[in-house]
Amino acid sequence: VDFEPWWLIFIPVVFALGWIAARVDIRQMLSETRSLPKSYFKGLNFLLNEEPDHAIDAFIEVAKLDSETTELHFALGNLFRRRGEMERAIRVHQSLLARADLPPSEREHALHELGHDFLKAGLLDRAEQAFEQLQQTRFAVPAVKALIRIYESEHDWPRAIDAVKRLRALVDEPVPQLAHYQCERAQAALGAHPADVETAAEALDAASHAVQSLRRHGADAHGAQARIAILSALQAHLVGDDLAERLSLESILEDAPMYAGLIAADLLQSYRRAGQVAQGLQLLRDHYDRYPSLDVFSVVLRALHAQQGHVVAWDFAREALRRGPSLLGLDRVLAVALDESVVQAQNKTGDKDATQDHVATSSTPHVTFPAYTQHADLNLLRSLIHRHTQLLDRYACRQCGFQARHFYWQCPGCHAWETYTPRRLEEQR
Ligand SMILES: [Zn+2]
Repeated sequence: VDFEPWWLIFIPVVFALGWIAARVDIRQMLSETRSLPKSYFKGLNFLLNEEPDHAIDAFIEVAKLDSETTELHFALGNLFRRRGEMERAIRVHQSLLARADLPPSEREHALHELGHDFLKAGLLDRAEQAFEQLQQTRFAVPAVKALIRIYESEHDWPRAIDAVKRLRALVDEPVPQLAHYQCERAQAALGAHPADVETAAEALDAASHAVQSLRRHGADAHGAQARIAILSALQAHLVGDDLAERLSLESILEDAPMYAGLIAADLLQSYRRAGQVAQGLQLLRDHYDRYPSLDVFSVVLRALHAQQGHVVAWDFAREALRRGPSLLGLDRVLAVALDESVVQAQNKTGDKDATQDHVATSSTPHVTFPAYTQHADLNLLRSLIHRHTQLLDRYACRQCGFQARHFYWQCPGCHAWETYTPRRLEEQR
C-alpha cells in the first residue's frame, strides 16, 4: 500500500481523541474513589501484597458498610475458585449469604456460586443442597445441570435420570448421556445377584426411547445403540434365550457397524452354541470385508485357524495385511502362530509313535520347518514388534486423549460419554 500524505491529518485527531477519553476516565475514577470506603483500599492493598485472608476480612467490612459492593464479592469469590482456593471462595460467598439486607436475586446468585464452590471442593452433598434450593429460581437450569453432574459422578443413575427429566421440563435440548444413564442402570440390574431382568428390560426400553429422541434432534447415537444391543444380548443370555441374544448382537453389524469388534467373539460363540459356527464365521468375514477392524480380524483369524486349519487362516491373514498393513494385525497373526507352534512342539516331544501317527493322519501337512526353529523365530519376531505394538494397542479419548487398554463408554479422564472410538490407536491413523 502506498503512503498518502493526507493520512498525516488523522494522527493528531486520533491523539486528541485518546487524550479526551483518558481525561474523562480519570475524572470518573476520581469521583468514584472518593465515595469508596477506606476498607476497600485496605483490602486491595492486602490482595496486592498476596495476603488474601486479610483482604477478605477487609472486603467483608466494606460489604457491611456499603450494600452495593456485592459485585466485588462475586468477582473475588470467582477469582479464588478459579485459583483453586476453595476455602476462601466459600468464605466470601458465605459472608455474602449471611447478610440480612441482601436482595433475593443476589441471594440466589450467591447460593449458585457457593454450590459451584462446594462442587469443585468435592463436597458433593453440600453442593447438592445448594443446587436443590435453586430449583424455582432463575438459576434453575444451571442448577439442574450441576445436579446431573453430581449424580453422575456418584453413579446414582436413577437420580441422574430424574434430574435429566427435570431439565427436559425446563429446556428443550437433547441430553445425549441419558441413554447411557439408562444403560448403566440396566447393566447394574443385570450384574446384580440374582439379576433383576425386569428392571433391566425397563431401563433398556427407556434407553431406546432416549436414542430415538436423539435421532429426532439429528444427533448420531450409534454408540448408545450398540450398547443397548450388547446389554439386550446379555439380558437374553441370562434368561437362556439364545436366539434373542444372537439377533441382538447381529443387529449391531447393521445398525452400528463400527462397534462390531466389541461383539464379534460373543456373536461367534452364540453361533457355535447353535451348532452353526460356519455360518457365524462367514457372517463375520463378510462384515470384515466391508468394515475392516482389528478386533473382527482377530476373531475371524482364530476361528478360521480352529475350523479350517492354518493354511486357510494364513491366506486370510496375508490378504488382510496386504490390503491394510498393520503391525497390530501382524502381532495377532504371530500370537496365533506361536500358539500353534507350541502345540506342535508338545506333540514332537510326546510319544514318538503317536507323533508319527499324528503326522501321517494330520490334516495340516504343510509345515516344512522344524517346529523348534520356527517357534524361536516367531518369538523373536513378536518380541521385536511387541514394544511398538503395545503403544498402538490402545483406545484413546477423542476429547482429552486419555489412553486405555479397555474400551470405555465414559472416558475415565474427562468423564465425557462416547468419546472412545471402538478402534485402536493404530487404526485411527
Ligand atoms: Zn476423555
